[in-house]
Amino acid sequence: MSSLNRMNTRILPTSFNYYEPRTIDEALKLLSELSPEVRILAGGTDLIVKMKARQVEPKNIINIKRIEGLRYITEEKGKIKIGALATWRDLEKSWQISKKIPALFDAISVMGSVQVRSMATIAGNLCNASPAADSAPPLLVHGAIVKASSIRGTREIPLDKFFLSPGKTILMPDEIVVEIEIPVPPQRSSSAFLKLSRTAMDLAKASAAAYLEVEDGKVVDAKIALGAVAPRPVRSLSAEAELIGKPATEETFSLASRQVVKDISPIDDIRSTASYRKKVSPILVEDALKLAFSRIRGELG
Ligand SMILES: Cc1cc2nc3c(=O)[nH]c(=O)nc-3n(C[C@H](O)[C@H](O)[C@H](O)COP(=O)(O)OP(=O)(O)OC[C@H]3O[C@@H](n4cnc5c(N)ncnc54)[C@H](O)[C@@H]3O)c2cc1C
Repeated sequence: MSSLNRMNTRILPTSFNYYEPRTIDEALKLLSELSPEVRILAGGTDLIVKMKARQVEPKNIINIKRIEGLRYITEEKGKIKIGALATWRDLEKSWQISKKIPALFDAISVMGSVQVRSMATIAGNLCNASPAADSAPPLLVHGAIVKASSIRGTREIPLDKFFLSPGKTILMPDEIVVEIEIPVPPQRSSSAFLKLSRTAMDLAKASAAAYLEVEDGKVVDAKIALGAVAPRPVRSLSAEAELIGKPATEETFSLASRQVVKDISPIDDIRSTASYRKKVSPILVEDALKLAFSRIRGELG
């Protein structure tokens, strides 16, 4: 059978045990009993595709979609909290995200189709750990924290420590991501995300997010992150160091963006080449910086 036919079939070619817990405690207990031979199912837009292609063949599946109380976006004590079952579409409709986390809103507008966004969760996007995951660069530049629970308790993982390699995160096999927390950014700050892909609804060839905080014409804080140009979504600390304390000018943005090549290690794959990715990354970062700055000045929405 050709690989195309295998992707298109509705048949899941292996058998597995299926569980549908109704509470988080029930899910954590199941996970602890069944791990490591178990996979969590949320929207299924990555997992089911991989199962059809036999890239993963889990013996046990725990569908967490029926657990009450995990689908929310709230703001409390200076933090925006996103529950593990909040979908991309939920975030697309959230004024907190569109007004306060513009880079993430940019990513939503170029992610999949409305059908995919209605099924897929942001937590699933992070846990799938694709180097090209569209939510990762925006959440990295906004200093997001991932909260993961197991029967042993809940721990907080800064997102820049979360990804290890393609498909691998720091999560233990018995942990579930329950929440993603983003600090509400201060006034005089903004962010932007840009993505290059072969077609609409494709993963990125390369992507970049920029966060800027400006006071009296100077950059007082900056974060840069890139997707699809390293084995995991990465921050560019070299570019950040070139921004902080400098005047917020196009010249600064241009000089800083050239530093990103120090922090990336792109490869050739079906979507692009290492050489193209190296050339385009500084341009994406420079454009994202300019867009974030124009938003601070109120020039663009
Ligand atoms: C047509 C199509 C277009 C797409 N376009 C894009 C795109 O433009 N950009 C992009 O980034 N992605 C894209 N994707 C990929 C996918 O939709 C996203 O990565 C999505 O956010 C995954 O979320 P999910 O809820 O469907 O995850 P699932 O498929 O349910 O799970 C993904 C992985 O995360 C694990 N997992 C899920 N939730 C948790 C949790 N709470 N705790 C621990 N582990 C968990 C699962 O076990 C699995 O390993 C696309 C997919 C399709 C099919």
